[in-house]
Amino acid sequence: MNNLQNKIIIHRGSHQIGGCVTEIRTPNHRIVIDFGANLPGSGREDSRADEELLAKVFNGEACDAVLFTHYHGDHIGLYKKIPADIPLYIGPTAKKIMEILTEKLDSIPGTTQKGLPRVQAMKSYLPGDRLDSFGDIQVTPLIVDHSALDAYMFLMEIGGKKVLFTGDFRDHGIAGENNRLEKAVRVYIGEIDILITEGTMLSRMEEAKENPIRTENDLGRRAGELFRDYKESVILVSSTNLDSIMEFYHALPWGMDFVCDAYQAKLILTAMKDKGKYDKKYRPEMIHGKPRRLYLIGDMEGLGAAQNCYKADFSILKRKGFTMLARENKPMFKKIMEHFPEPLIIYSKWKGYLKGKHEEPAIKEFIGNHRMEIVHTSGHAYVETIEKLIQMTNPKVIIPMHTECAEKFGEIPAFSRYRDRVRVLEDGEEYWF
Ligand SMILES: [Zn+2]
Repeated sequence: MNNLQNKIIIHRGSHQIGGCVTEIRTPNHRIVIDFGANLPGSGREDSRADEELLAKVFNGEACDAVLFTHYHGDHIGLYKKIPADIPLYIGPTAKKIMEILTEKLDSIPGTTQKGLPRVQAMKSYLPGDRLDSFGDIQVTPLIVDHSALDAYMFLMEIGGKKVLFTGDFRDHGIAGENNRLEKAVRVYIGEIDILITEGTMLSRMEEAKENPIRTENDLGRRAGELFRDYKESVILVSSTNLDSIMEFYHALPWGMDFVCDAYQAKLILTAMKDKGKYDKKYRPEMIHGKPRRLYLIGDMEGLGAAQNCYKADFSILKRKGFTMLARENKPMFKKIMEHFPEPLIIYSKWKGYLKGKHEEPAIKEFIGNHRMEIVHTSGHAYVETIEKLIQMTNPKVIIPMHTECAEKFGEIPAFSRYRDRVRVLEDGEEYWF
């Protein structure tokens, strides 16, 4: 007879990257971590499956909260469908970024259900501050490095056991500099009972080995070299990948200008305002004592000199040299590029979108016959980073998720010492602890 009464259920994401939904429950309380959409191009975008999942998780039974680790769609994408009486939680800066993003998405013609009211009603948690409002499930959110700004791990204390849910993480971006992950483990986490870890890179190990750009810092260095060689460049990067964007921004030589649209500028300004106090790289580049200007194309959307934003004038920018952040799905960028016959395209997204089963036609079309350089680093933990986390937290049980390689987890040489601790769950399976 066992007296285990608490449960972990990965409703979705035990064997795939994205679409994550995890439930943690005790006899009287339950919380859900992330409620993500399946990644576009994953071949799993099935709204019926989403509806079934929603009906299963939110079946009328009380739920204390849904906690989001970060704002990527594969973790938060289905938030609008969560019953309105369940409180949603997210990091404070992540909430601001969601607001900017959602305002934009809501304005797309044909959007039937506006997301902004729900996002505005989200509660914020603070790094290191324990949340005590979920009965016998105590959650401490801990800030982590990821390609989404203001992302969190959750340390949960339940029935005397410590469960660490990593969400998406890494330690080679800006927030991971100066051994922050190690410090967080030492100060807040210590040894744990159960580790639920992401394993995105386990199916991308070859790709990681081939990429000379290992860290965001490497990305900045390479971008600096390219900016010196090419007076005109266009960067294809996710508008919310603010670590990479800040690296590009700082790598641009003095005398050249930084161009983007108002939406992108709002995201950059939010990152600077909230995160500049913790990291120099989130602060403005100071040039002769003044912050580098952001030159905007398109509608200024209320931004101006007070926000250090100015209308882009390409007759001047062309003389000085510039780089422009672009999005392949926005025609305005392509139109502007027609004035620059030979810009270098700096491609800073996952390589998988360029060819193969995840190929994105809009990206291919945007790049066309232009000269292109791939300058990108992963948003996810390398095997060595996961190994380091395991070593430091010494979990009794390791549950992989957010991976295409759950079954092979124990076979990876770096993890072989821990093989007996690995417990692979199926979607929907109950793990009692
Ligand atoms: Zn993510």
